[in-house]
Amino acid sequence: MTEHSDPAAVPTGDPADATREPADAFTALYGSAPEGVWAAPGRVNLIGEYTDFNDGFVMPLALPHTARAAVARRTDGELRLHSSDVPGGVVRLRIDELAPHQGHGWAAYPAGVVWALREAGHPVSGADIQLTSTVPTGAGLSSSAALEVVTALALNDLFGLGLPAPELAVIGQRAENAFVGVPCGIMDQMASACCTDGHALYLDTRDLTQRQVPFDLSAHGLRLLVVDTRVKHALGDGAYAERRAGCEAGAAALGLRTLRDLPFPGLGTALEALAASGADESVVRYVRHVVGDNERVRQVIALLDAGDVRAVGPVLDAGHVSLRDDLRVSCPELDLVVSSAGEAGALGARMTGGGFGGSAIVLVDEARADAVAGAVRAAFAAAGHAEPGIFPAVPSAGARRLA
Ligand code: ADP
Ligand code: MG
Repeated sequence: MTEHSDPAAVPTGDPADATREPADAFTALYGSAPEGVWAAPGRVNLIGEYTDFNDGFVMPLALPHTARAAVARRTDGELRLHSSDVPGGVVRLRIDELAPHQGHGWAAYPAGVVWALREAGHPVSGADIQLTSTVPTGAGLSSSAALEVVTALALNDLFGLGLPAPELAVIGQRAENAFVGVPCGIMDQMASACCTDGHALYLDTRDLTQRQVPFDLSAHGLRLLVVDTRVKHALGDGAYAERRAGCEAGAAALGLRTLRDLPFPGLGTALEALAASGADESVVRYVRHVVGDNERVRQVIALLDAGDVRAVGPVLDAGHVSLRDDLRVSCPELDLVVSSAGEAGALGARMTGGGFGGSAIVLVDEARADAVAGAVRAAFAAAGHAEPGIFPAVPSAGARRLA
């Protein structure tokens, strides 16, 4: 895969290269030119964590890092997949033999999209696909969603399916949930499909209504740093399912469809009722986190709409404390990013994504950005951790056709 979080990997150079590279690789591989080239970004989530499976609110932004696909149609029922970023040759599959949980490694993500499109009745008759990506993998920045969404968009265009971006996101999520077998929510694919330049995406994950919220960091002299800790603790796998089950149990005990339906002003009373009903103390904590983070999404929207971007910092800090102490999905490396950045003068910071490693975000004055990044690196070195990858999250465009 592309070197983790290397700032040089951010495609800030000639946009023509971003198109030519996958197109040339396609031609070398399949012997003729592709019909087009598409891109879909990775994302970071500004606020609203572990809320998307509770019908709650999220607020991601797209990164400049993208997965790109050069694609041509086939009519013979064959699906040929290649990624320049992983060893191994072309993966050849028959589209009418695609079925969930067959393995296929990385190729299950794009193959799952073809399967999900066909399951939904869309006439996809085969394709040759060449993929490459600058989204760091396994860093909580949604390299998998970028792969799914770029595949869905390319096939949507080539086969004239006419699906709007949010439906492509739903196809990508179905591929990941049902075909690959990863129980993710809808946030990642929606972010990759629907984000726009200079905005964060406010998304209601119950009805998928959305709004582009202006998030112009440089106009406010600010920067949002992504700090990739480069660790992934094994604990994370079971923990997600356990948190999810706990949230569902909490909602059921409160007689709610989901925790989305618990308003923030009623939280204290609800938590008392939950504790009195004999609910596990972990369930009480999970409920407090989810309802609190939904409220923090509302706070951030109000601040951004009012143009008070700096004031988002303390909301990020509060979100981190909640993820660390109530949901308990942080880890020493993520906590160290937040504490060392704060001590060096950051405006606020929190872990982002599923936790147990992956990435944190840090909101900082542009003038302090290098000092804060240096302080985080020094803290990691002093603690004996590997050097983190640090780069600015510039709110970027969602999925699009390049050529
Ligand atoms: P994340 O989405 O947070 O990066 P995931 O574990 O959900 O982490 O997805 C990572 C997986 O996606 C990789 O293990 C690989 O299977 C697949 N993937 C991502 N980018 C690429 C790529 N450029 N080429 C091939 N497979 C990729
Ligand atoms: Mg993923």
